[in-house]
Amino acid sequence: MKITFLGTAAAEGFPAVFCNCEYCREAKRLGGKNIRTRSQSIINDDLLIDLPADTYSHFLNNNIDGDAIKYLIVTHSHPDHFYEKELGMRHAPFAKNMRTQRLKIYCSEGAAKVIQEMYGNENYMLDCMALKPFDTVVAGNYEITALPARHFPGDGSLFYIITGEKTILYAHDTGYFYEEVFDYIKDSKHTFDLVSLDCTNVDIPASDEGYHMGIDNITRVLKRLEGIGAIHNKTQKVINHFSHNGNPIHHRLEERVKDYGYKVSYDGLCIEL
Ligand SMILES: [Zn+2]
Ligand SMILES: [Zn+2]
Ligand SMILES: [Zn+2]
Repeated sequence: MKITFLGTAAAEGFPAVFCNCEYCREAKRLGGKNIRTRSQSIINDDLLIDLPADTYSHFLNNNIDGDAIKYLIVTHSHPDHFYEKELGMRHAPFAKNMRTQRLKIYCSEGAAKVIQEMYGNENYMLDCMALKPFDTVVAGNYEITALPARHFPGDGSLFYIITGEKTILYAHDTGYFYEEVFDYIKDSKHTFDLVSLDCTNVDIPASDEGYHMGIDNITRVLKRLEGIGAIHNKTQKVINHFSHNGNPIHHRLEERVKDYGYKVSYDGLCIEL
């Protein structure tokens, strides 16, 4: 089982689309891992997580065959995670000879509403299912559990446990986890081989009631997960979804978290589990 991080920035991208701050200028100057596009990952070659407007360039840059993707899970309907118009390209005459005929979509209630409003009763080769917190579905060889995110009230924002040959906790976007999330993970006895956590703020203080996290919040989430036996000494701890405000220059982030053993994501990072 492998996960590829296709986009690792928050909504504005890094460098941010219309920004001229010193961090963004530095990112442009340095290039490489400092160029971060909007949030998206893919598991193996067939389970896509989120659908930002950067999806097309992600496919081109990472040799991804869009027609072979079988499952799409959407965390919430903020545009950096869900650019629903792209789904309109997934039928004739725009797409032909697709290996996966109908794309199965599992998503927040907000994202499902957007799909229903846009594609309604027309046949766009989409099978969409809104998930509620703690719903579990089986999708081919994967088991997917939705957890409630502290993020975007009214959308039913979710983050996910994805189990294939290994188990991944993919937590974007969310603030500090709700108590019932820790309870669920403890009771269901999940153990994670990889966790990817929302690090939008980096070192800018983030309230535990807020909708994103930074290194401090992440460190406390991981301590709780460790306390309930959900992570072990081989769990890969990835930080992800960075805002330009947090100064996410890659080598600086690596230096910042090296003593914690966190892996700093970057666009194109592929981890084999
Ligand atoms: Zn986001
Ligand atoms: Zn900036
Ligand atoms: Zn969001």
